[in-house]
Amino acid sequence: MANLTFCGAAGTVTGSCSKLITKNAKFLVDCGLFQGNKTTVALNYEPFPFNPKEMEFMILTHGHIDHTGLVPKLVNQGFNGPIYATQTTIELLDYLLRDGASIQESNAKRKNKKNQRRGLPLIEPLYTQKDAEAALALLKPVKYEEWFSPAKNIQVRYWNAGHILGSASAEMTVSNECENGHTLRLLFSGDIGPDEKVFHPEPDAPEGFDYIVCESTYGNRKRADYTLEGRRDALKKELVDGLARGGNVVIPSFAVERSQELLHDIGVIIKQGALKGATVYLDSPLAKKVTEIFIKHARKLDDLELSPDDLFQGDRFRLIESVDESKRLNQVPSKAIIISASGMCDAGRIQHHLKANIWRPECTVLLVGYQSPGTLGSLIQKGIKDIRIHGKEFKLRAQVRRLGNYSAHADQSELLDWIMERSPIVGGLFLNHGENDSRETLKGILADKGIDKERIYIPHFNESFELLASEAVSKGRDPNQRGMDKIPTFDWNNQYAAFGLELVNKLESAASNEERSKILNTIHNALAGHTES
Ligand SMILES: [Zn+2]
Repeated sequence: MANLTFCGAAGTVTGSCSKLITKNAKFLVDCGLFQGNKTTVALNYEPFPFNPKEMEFMILTHGHIDHTGLVPKLVNQGFNGPIYATQTTIELLDYLLRDGASIQESNAKRKNKKNQRRGLPLIEPLYTQKDAEAALALLKPVKYEEWFSPAKNIQVRYWNAGHILGSASAEMTVSNECENGHTLRLLFSGDIGPDEKVFHPEPDAPEGFDYIVCESTYGNRKRADYTLEGRRDALKKELVDGLARGGNVVIPSFAVERSQELLHDIGVIIKQGALKGATVYLDSPLAKKVTEIFIKHARKLDDLELSPDDLFQGDRFRLIESVDESKRLNQVPSKAIIISASGMCDAGRIQHHLKANIWRPECTVLLVGYQSPGTLGSLIQKGIKDIRIHGKEFKLRAQVRRLGNYSAHADQSELLDWIMERSPIVGGLFLNHGENDSRETLKGILADKGIDKERIYIPHFNESFELLASEAVSKGRDPNQRGMDKIPTFDWNNQYAAFGLELVNKLESAASNEERSKILNTIHNALAGHTES
């Protein structure tokens, strides 16, 4: 019987990593970075809950950093086996892992400056360029829908997951694993894309499994129905209205997939004759490199409304790499559509473009992605008027607009359809890569649809299961577990930031200085009371 442990992405959407131990091999499916609040990020620095040297190979589902971002650390700690991935995932990782390493190196440098001033010990980066390169050297390309055998008695086959370029679900058979010689059939969904998505066909995989591990990011979210055309029309309206205000339109965007979807759709809108006189800038060195991979594979992309030769190209588009060119963009007063990373505005060149544009009422900030609580993007989304960027205060006077239909994830009904199409599921269905609300909601609906509730598992962080031929038995948490059994989605740092905002708002809206003083006295007394108790 095989043993499956959820080393990440259980009760949360980051740090995806599942460990499998079979009679013949020990291996991992994904090894992602934990992202979010400080408590979650701190998990990246804890030792792995297994010995990396003992892991014999790895199956990667796709390039996103929450599925691959700890691979260089794993290699640094002694993992030396082949890492299987699709060819395009490997091409993306060539940039993503190097970019991840330079972020880790500069984070460590910045922290060490602070630590030096405070007389605290210096820290090492989570991993370095050298580790990223060592990880890249282990990557082995595999084709969709072709079996390969990474170890004795184990066969693996990738299926299109429709999530991002190169994304896959991994089907797996483990033969001679159970007492009666039963062959275990497993399926790891990876992240699943929506049905309506430019570039990729709908997600696909066979039916009939013993066990399925399925993501549940949007297990509790129903998107309004949309077509690619309808979504494009909504984008067109925002861009036309935005430019008509007489300023620029700034769009924070993820470098992989979202930026290219926007460029494609804007290309179609320009072809329709709209956005006259406007220039579209993609200002992110990483997004530029990723866009070049899309251009390379343009002929294989699905649902294109443009000729592959025109994709992201032409005299209305500028893909910016140099710092000087990026800085010059800050002087452009109007008619610029600026797409830049990061998608949640918490780092990268987007911050410079926000500094140049958010205080101008004729400009527009168009949000096209999820803004995690506490990020600069979430403050802009809330319409907070006083924004701090790079230590300076800015008044938010630009129009803030939002488009909700750009997502690389299947929503609730699409997840349900994908799961139902995979049935029968004999042993059990594990819901991972989702917050607990999402997983519970999805479990309830699946039970209503006739899937045995007893066989829908909501694994805890670090929980292990024995996969028998007909049912999974929880073995509890791995004894080498990292500190906690539940990753908090809202930790004390989030609470502190929210409290700070609430306090500023209360003080600003108070009727008089006496009132303000009263508020502060109340807090002061509460703190004194707390210390004494
Ligand atoms: Zn993903």
